[in-house]
Amino acid sequence: MSNDEQRQARHQRAMEKLKSHVDERVANASEERGQLLILTGNGKGKTTSAWGTVTRALGYGYGVGVIQFIKGEWECGERQRLQDDPNLQVATMGTGFTWETQKRETDREACEAVWQHASRLLNDPNIYLVVLDEITYMLKFGYLDIESVKTALQNRPVEQSVIVTGRNAHRELMAMADTITEMQETRHAFNNGLKARRGLDY
Ligand code: ATP
Ligand code: MG
Repeated sequence: MSNDEQRQARHQRAMEKLKSHVDERVANASEERGQLLILTGNGKGKTTSAWGTVTRALGYGYGVGVIQFIKGEWECGERQRLQDDPNLQVATMGTGFTWETQKRETDREACEAVWQHASRLLNDPNIYLVVLDEITYMLKFGYLDIESVKTALQNRPVEQSVIVTGRNAHRELMAMADTITEMQETRHAFNNGLKARRGLDY
């Protein structure tokens, strides 16, 4: 056998092994139901990833609900692009950034109002995907209590998936999740004085 043939034979053996391993794992993953995903950590990409999945679900004509818990007054390119889709509902907290308003009581009321909307979506079997964007901060600030959120998630329709985004996700939410991705900040432009950019950061 030439060197090339030996290499080819080795490659084929490795691929066969890999294929049987992957096939076995695919065969084991047979349960079908909605899932709870958490996108957390300090690195960039949590909200972007959630909107990517929203686009994916809308692409199949599924009903999708997005609740934005913190950036109400901020522009958002994805929202602008997708808001005319009749299968998408978006609700945003009116007051914008908590550390901008610094009015605890007004923020708490705004959070409660938008949570009502989230609760409706979490009860609606026509909604295939719900995004609770930046909800982790609402739990951290004590504007929402973990028990209400847990109950709403546990009682949601079986086929419904939920994506939670935000830093420092609550331990009890983490315990419930099917998938957790921790975005790790290796570097962020902001720390080198680069301003948040339209179409890139929002
Ligand atoms: P994105 O919306 O870009 O996916 P994110 O949801 O992961 O970011 P957030 O913590 O919600 O991150 O960030 C809100 C804003 O701050 C966004 O404009 C984002 O681009 C920016 N940002 C994200 N990560 C960092 C970071 N590590 N340092 C500074 N700014 C950040
Ligand atoms: Mg975000």
